[in-house]
Amino acid sequence: MTMNKVQFQKGLSLDGFLKKYGIEAQCEEALAVARWPQGYQCPRCACKRVAMTHNGRRLWECLDCGYQCSAIAGTVMETTKLPLRILRLSEVGS
Ligand SMILES: [Zn+2]
Repeated sequence: MTMNKVQFQKGLSLDGFLKKYGIEAQCEEALAVARWPQGYQCPRCACKRVAMTHNGRRLWECLDCGYQCSAIAGTVMETTKLPLRILRLSEVGS
């Protein structure tokens, strides 16, 4: 019987997963709450109807105009590739 390489991939433990992704997700949530304390509102058309999507970072997509916005879009940190967990909230605050 041949070895199925998919089954024998090195996995990520739950602890490793939370360290890698859990803290990042918590940072995105904290940034979103700090930026839009009354809830997300489209910066382009002011609509509040949104869908969530993802491109490596969490994105809010406006259901009226289709504009996509991340928690750091429109800030000085917009183009950073750094993990959000190492950014300071004051650097991304609106
Ligand atoms: Zn919009």
